[in-house]
Amino acid sequence: MLSCITRHDYLYGQYLVNQKVEVFAIGSPHQKSSWTIEPNIRICSDTKVTSFRASQAVRYWEKLGYKFGSVFTDNSPFCMNARFGEILITLPESGFGDHHMASTTTYTRIDSDTIVKAKISILPKYARKERVLEHEIGHALGWAHYSQKYHMMHPNWFLGGYESKGLKNN
Ligand SMILES: [Zn+2]
Repeated sequence: MLSCITRHDYLYGQYLVNQKVEVFAIGSPHQKSSWTIEPNIRICSDTKVTSFRASQAVRYWEKLGYKFGSVFTDNSPFCMNARFGEILITLPESGFGDHHMASTTTYTRIDSDTIVKAKISILPKYARKERVLEHEIGHALGWAHYSQKYHMMHPNWFLGGYESKGLKNN
């Protein structure tokens, strides 16, 4: 039995000009769940995400101690459902707002915090946008948002960055 535990929407165009922005987050980033195997990354070709781009994003996490299986592209027109043991990169379903860059759904076992599969939905226009895939793979690895400026898991793309504080795999 599976349960969908995380639904994430990466907001785009929400740059808060007049509102106070949290610069220092309290505590550390929180990893809600994790893999016990090395997930493969399957890319649906209609996302326009190249295996080069996905491998780049994977390398960000490998440097932090995470391990992955293979990264490959799937040209099938029915490329939409994540299989066990993989992180699927696919097109969003209809109804995906235009203000979203990407979203990630992770599936865990009901009786544990073990991730068994994950699905990243991304629009082709964001396939090459910097940090978007890195951020979503972070969710696919179980990481929650962390509102520290320049941090990879910052919920707002404009305030995020490559900062990886607290994300190391122990
Ligand atoms: Zn996010």
